[in-house]
This record gives sequence, C-alpha cells and structure tokens, in this order.
Amino acid sequence: MTTDFQPVSGFVLPRFAGIPTFMRLPYVPLEDPRLSQVQVGLIGAPWDGGTTNRPGPRHGPRQLRDASTMIRAQHGITGIRPFEVLNCADLGDVAPNPADVQDSLRRMTGFYAQVRAAGIIPLTAGGDHLCTLPILRALAHDRPLGMIHFDSHTDLFHSYFNGQMYTHGTPFRRAVEEGLLDPHRVCQIGIRGTAYDSEDRDFARAVGIRVIPIEEFHRRGVEDVMAEARAIAGAGETYVSYDIDFVDPAYAPGTGTPEVGGPTSWQALECARLLTGVNIVGADLVEVSPPFDPSGGTAFLGVSLMFEMLCAIVAAQT
Ligand code: MN
Ligand code: MN
Repeated sequence: MTTDFQPVSGFVLPRFAGIPTFMRLPYVPLEDPRLSQVQVGLIGAPWDGGTTNRPGPRHGPRQLRDASTMIRAQHGITGIRPFEVLNCADLGDVAPNPADVQDSLRRMTGFYAQVRAAGIIPLTAGGDHLCTLPILRALAHDRPLGMIHFDSHTDLFHSYFNGQMYTHGTPFRRAVEEGLLDPHRVCQIGIRGTAYDSEDRDFARAVGIRVIPIEEFHRRGVEDVMAEARAIAGAGETYVSYDIDFVDPAYAPGTGTPEVGGPTSWQALECARLLTGVNIVGADLVEVSPPFDPSGGTAFLGVSLMFEMLCAIVAAQT
C-alpha cells in the first residue's frame, strides 16, 4: 500500500472541511514531480462550449469535487479499496478558452497528451460531451479504441446550426471519422427520446456501431446488456464515456438535455460496476450541470459513478 496517495480520511478531517479535491486525493498538477508516480488521474474539464441547449456543465468539476468529499475509501458491495491498489491523484483542471471552441479543443488535447505520456489513466469530470473528443484525440491518435458509451443520445450527428461540426451532439461522429474509435468495438446504451431525424442511427448502422436503445435495455436488464457491451469491447483497449443524462431525470435532473424513461440510480451504478473486466484506458462522466442541480443530488450520483468507474479501472490493472 502506498502512503503518498491516500485520500484524507473523514476521521482525520471532517468531510465538510478542507479544500475539496476529487475524492479528497492529493492535488498533483502536471508540473509536480510526483506526477511520475500517479497511475490514475482525476481531471476536471470545466468547459461547455459544445452545448446546444441549456448550458452549465462548465461548472461541473467544481461541484463534483465538492460532492466527491462524500466518497469513502471502500466500495460498499465489492469491498475494493481502489486507493490502496493504484496511486490516484487530482491532476486539476484543463484550462479551456471559453471564447474559442477550436482553441479549447487544442488545449484539452495538449493536456491529455501530457497525461498519456506520463502513463496515467485519465478519469475526467466534465464538462459537456464535446470534451470527450479532444481526450480521444490524445489517447487514440495512434490506434483506434473501443468504447462503451452510456447516454440518452448517440452524439453521432454530422453537424448542427448550418454546418457547425463541433457540438456535444457530434463528438463520436468526428471520432469515427478521425479513426479514434473502431466502430465495431463501440456500444451505445440507453438511447431514447424524441429525435430530429434518424441520421445518427443510420450512421451507426452504416459503420457498425451497436446501439442498445432504452426499450431494449429495460426489456433485457442490466446484466444481459452489460455482458453484450463487454463482449463488443472485447479484450482491447477501451474508453468509457458516461453522460449523466443516461440516468432518468427523476434521479439526475441536473443536466442540460434530460430524457425521461431512463435507468434508476441503482441501475446506473450497476452498469458501471459491470464494466469490471473491460480493459479501460480512460473514462469520463460528463454533462452534470450545477445550475439545474439545486439539491446537489445529480452531482452526488455523478461522483458515485466516477467511483464505480475507478474501481473498474483498478480491476483492469490488477
Ligand atoms: Mn452525450
Ligand atoms: Mn446525452
């Protein structure tokens, strides 16, 4: 067990006290010499420049850090103690340019390229879903990754608003076009809601992306769906992208584009827990929007999902 990268215990300093880092881990910015010892980096991406509807996820990392002080060191079901297995740290926030989409994408790719070069697995708190594109550009520039993607939306549209190619509705279209994802190893789970048209689903079908719509998810159940998702990802390197709007807005109202009829918070956690066995090279939790989350409940579910994903990362590395 390492001693340098343990979270501050609530027995030592009460959970409501101190400067909030993700899960009360040490803050290790990229220039810190301890970076070389970090194995999993928790990162904030405070940017929502791709948002097409109700904004707010730029405020997500700050609220998620605060909510994450509620996370204790041991998993309640599996007993996994992830911080004793891998060195985890809060690497701080990537610095976007809120006035320039392309500059923000470049800045994020640069940040994550440094994270990858240090051999660190990034676990990101968004930010809107466009944040995932620059992360994939850094992690997958030399070979395509598989992806397990939880969302109400495919985010596979070609463009919005008269040719705007970079929004939170288009990141995975770009990622497939740029060769960052192997579409035959991509599974999208929970897709639902009214639609502009079927262009996104047609694209998925054409390139071989497996879409599991919500009606199929509810009919088959979490275990069966996740078994298929794991089989699609296979043994290869896989990214996990978790949009909080996958969860029913009764449980996660604090997001910009909610869709009713989704999974409960319990099902949402189970999905993340059943990632165990996937070869995860990075993961994110995006689209938590604090202005729509006055109770803080969406943020607490968000950080609980991040803890589940962290435990799955630990399982894959041991
Ligand atoms: Mn999304
Ligand atoms: Mn969504």
